[in-house]
Amino acid sequence: MRCAICKKKAEVYLPHHNLALCREDFKKYFLKRVKKAIDDFKMFEKGDKILLAVSGGKDSLSLWHALLKLGYDVTGLFIALGIGEFSERARKIVKEFSDKNKTNLITVKLENEFGGNTLPQIVEKTRGIPCKVCGKIKRYYFDRIAVKENFDVIATGHNLDDESAFLLGNILNWNIEYLAKQLPALPEEDGFKKKVKPLIYLTEREIAIYAFFNEINYNELSCPFSKKAKSHFYKESLHQMELSYKGLRIKFFKGFLRNQKIFGKAEKKYSLSPCKICGYPTSSEICGVCKIKINLGLIEEEK
Ligand code: SF4
Ligand code: ZN
Repeated sequence: MRCAICKKKAEVYLPHHNLALCREDFKKYFLKRVKKAIDDFKMFEKGDKILLAVSGGKDSLSLWHALLKLGYDVTGLFIALGIGEFSERARKIVKEFSDKNKTNLITVKLENEFGGNTLPQIVEKTRGIPCKVCGKIKRYYFDRIAVKENFDVIATGHNLDDESAFLLGNILNWNIEYLAKQLPALPEEDGFKKKVKPLIYLTEREIAIYAFFNEINYNELSCPFSKKAKSHFYKESLHQMELSYKGLRIKFFKGFLRNQKIFGKAEKKYSLSPCKICGYPTSSEICGVCKIKINLGLIEEEK
């Protein structure tokens, strides 16, 4: 098979676009798709300060690589969760990436923030659900650091597979509220910075190929808390459908983006006000992270 662009030997075939590409043209194709998402949804511009949430997985590291290649001002933010070997490996890989690419990295070590407790210890002591506690803590630090360090936007590595699986789940369950706000770019509001997903036009497979062609080392270990959630089932179902209907996922997701307005504007259920302890926007008096700290006996609830 020959590359559709330069006619050299193709190394990749993308069935959803019926496109064969050589290594160099695939890399260019990938960067173009990232740029297109950024421009289509006015995510950010050259000169904006971007804070990228990095986990050490292939999505966030490939996005970091692509944004640097495209000339954006991007800083990685890594939260060291303290989940044994999984977190340790992720930390080393992220540090190696930032050193190799001479790019800025901010690391937040959970143990330093939570009186020596790692995520598994916080979960055990507060009897929480791991991914719920983890998500809450990560979101808190992304938001706080973005505001404190004056970033313009927070970027995450969600890809086409993630977003179409999320979309399918939201439609099957008629989560109108989620459908109304499932946007690739969420505007800055209520004290939160703008949030964007520049990988929405790229599949997991394309990202894995990009990482491979660019020799991006990423953490292949899975978090021990990750379980076969419903989202895995939706993702798998879409993969199965894609086998007989090429391009289904991108068609499904792009169709949604075109028609997303029919779900209306996301209604605000709660009004937010600053947490009376730390100032983070919250719907109750004390934010979720301060409640965890109170629960752990690290701070006292102010009267
Ligand atoms: Fe956190 Fe759950 Fe992801 Fe593990 S699987 S990193 S606990 S959100
Ligand atoms: Zn708080």
